[in-house]
Amino acid sequence: MNLNARIYQDAEAARKHLEKLLWPEGPVCPHCGVVGEATKLKGKSTRPGVYKCKPCQKPFSVTVGTVFEDSKVPLNKWVLATELLTASKKGMSAHQIHRMLGVTYKTAWFMCHRIREAMIDPNHAPMGGEGQSVQADETYYGNTSKRAKGWKKGHRHKEQIVALVEPGKKARAFHVKKAKADMVREILVTNIDRKSELHTDESRLYPVVGREFADHKTVNHGNHSTGFQYVGKDGQTTNHVENFFGTFKRGMVGTYHKCEPQHLQRYVTEFEFRYNNRAKLGITDTMRAEIALKGIEGKRLTYRRIGEA
Ligand SMILES: [Zn+2]
Repeated sequence: MNLNARIYQDAEAARKHLEKLLWPEGPVCPHCGVVGEATKLKGKSTRPGVYKCKPCQKPFSVTVGTVFEDSKVPLNKWVLATELLTASKKGMSAHQIHRMLGVTYKTAWFMCHRIREAMIDPNHAPMGGEGQSVQADETYYGNTSKRAKGWKKGHRHKEQIVALVEPGKKARAFHVKKAKADMVREILVTNIDRKSELHTDESRLYPVVGREFADHKTVNHGNHSTGFQYVGKDGQTTNHVENFFGTFKRGMVGTYHKCEPQHLQRYVTEFEFRYNNRAKLGITDTMRAEIALKGIEGKRLTYRRIGEA
């Protein structure tokens, strides 16, 4: 990426970039929904990028109703932060964003969380389908370093994440306090088409819900005495979902170090977003950043819970 590009350097260039992405058919009035019927306000006293809607006479700009609204941070820094966070495979810490953008650490932290909101996938269509397989698995996260404050032995004090992956396609991941069969069932049946084949390991979480799908095949991960199995006799595997967790864990350890449970879902969403828009699926860094920028719309209510940036 070229850090000298105008959209990263100049707030007005960044605004035009956003307008092009969010308003392909012309300005959209957030008050009445009319498209392409607004005129740009000019004049020294007007803030830049303000339009006035002809039908309803109300003013608006491209950031109204988005996660960038009401921010004092110039739009070029928002666009740059989005690019950095979407392009870095293991994520980027708020410390690094703070240094690169010249904003305070606290502002950088809030910016990153708002950008994670923009990464939420609005698509809730069921995964899989007839003749397709979906892999499900769960993992522990938290206090993995013995040096970390509050470290306790064993898994009991850790948070859990359940992930579903369609091999060669997309993933969905969910932070849960503790994975229990009924909760895991709820996640599976609301996200996976029941005509799919379910692939899991031999965890006790899956046999009952497995009967609700076209088929349920397991991989026995075994132990040192029985030998490890990565692919079952019918070709079933959980390798894809394990790779997803691998990238997530390396990023959480290498980049973010620690994360409070109340924020964990947002980090999970960030890794899910990059996985679902990865280079292997033909998505370039530029395309990935643009997908996140298009996602800033309609998420104002959620980010309000995060705070000011
Ligand atoms: Zn209007």
